[in-house]
Amino acid sequence: MSSIKFGNARQSISSIPVKELAEQFGTPLYVYDLSVIEKRIGELSKFDVVRYAQKACGNIAILDRMRRHGVVVDAVSAGEIHRALAASYCAEASKAEIVYTADLFDRAALEMVVEHGMLVNCGSPDMISQLGELRPGAEVTLRINPGFGHGHSQKTNTGGEQSKHGIWHTQIDDCLLRADQTGVTVTGLHMHIGSGTDLEHLSEVCDAMEKAAISVGRTIHTISAGGGLPVPYKDDETYVDLDKYFELWDATRNRLSERFGHRVSLEIEPGRFLAAESGYLIAEVRSVKKMGDNLFALVDAGFTDLARPVMYGSYHPISVAAKSGDAADREQVEVVVGGPLCESGDIFTQREGGYVDSRRLPAPRVGDYIVLENAGAYGFVMASNYNSKTRAAEVLIENGEAKLIRQREQFEDLTRGEIIPA
Ligand SMILES: *Cc1c(COP(=O)(O)O)cnc(C)c1O
Repeated sequence: MSSIKFGNARQSISSIPVKELAEQFGTPLYVYDLSVIEKRIGELSKFDVVRYAQKACGNIAILDRMRRHGVVVDAVSAGEIHRALAASYCAEASKAEIVYTADLFDRAALEMVVEHGMLVNCGSPDMISQLGELRPGAEVTLRINPGFGHGHSQKTNTGGEQSKHGIWHTQIDDCLLRADQTGVTVTGLHMHIGSGTDLEHLSEVCDAMEKAAISVGRTIHTISAGGGLPVPYKDDETYVDLDKYFELWDATRNRLSERFGHRVSLEIEPGRFLAAESGYLIAEVRSVKKMGDNLFALVDAGFTDLARPVMYGSYHPISVAAKSGDAADREQVEVVVGGPLCESGDIFTQREGGYVDSRRLPAPRVGDYIVLENAGAYGFVMASNYNSKTRAAEVLIENGEAKLIRQREQFEDLTRGEIIPA
């Protein structure tokens, strides 16, 4: 956690002045503090395997550093397999450094998985047959939907009958029959429910996992707790009690190890937990204007850079880095923070449902910087080119040094591949 928890005046990120970062690399700019990622990895050391859900933040420099810390990855698309390979992860199934986990194979993903002989976590019965036809005798893991879910909104619920994810818990026998037809072996089970901080709910998930593993039997060598470890975005939010979280899963794993007569490995698959708090989006204030009773600060980043507020009504801590360095001394005012897009929903301070809200901040002026915090997960990866905006640059702070890990997109990138027919 940074020194200012949810501060609203900030002059630096990991001791480097925000102004310096903005002047050197331009804005909008994503900045990641590697030391935060390293700290989070360390907190998960009790698990046998930490598998990073790279969809949260997939820059190959970040994947490379994760790899050097012994973290493996999952890939939810052919493109994510490409990223993992670019970051020097090994594709071989026996090493399980990359697992393709999805509810379907599109043709590109199936081809790539077969070409590289990768391990697959199947989220639908069809995947077992499709893989088995091309790679008879393959080992797979199954993503199970235990019949109930737990998500903070309809869009993030990952279990139950409204969810498209996973294999329905009563269909395990059918899946084993399918697997037999092509000699496929089920060696692991996976549940990604997202219990958040709710340990009572988690113990239901563990029970469901145990039941599912028993119904598959002794071929099971790994169980995965999935992702969903929360990070606090607001003062009243907390982390999950990791010791208790581990204890519940560890007890489940131990019972299964004993029953099967071999050690069952315990995986965890966080995305947000590893990446969210490392990331900051720096934007420059380009206009401050009063609209009736509301004061708007309009910045050069929009939902094309950070989509969570408009997509989910998500809250990000916001701070002001004053160009003159005096944000902490300024009068605090209520500010609506918005972006440059021709879209009235382009507001960072909004609640779920699109209601415009304001934030109490040091009175911003044109030329100041606004820092959107906890933006490392589901930030840059959801960026788009809507309004023909070029996507931001990304910078990694490592050992006190700011290193460019992605160039800002150029205008040529916007029209690349477009064709005016003769
Ligand atoms: C998205 C995802 C995760 C990571 O979720 P977080 O909430 O970011 O931890 C893990 N596993 C799977 C299969 C996912 O789709």
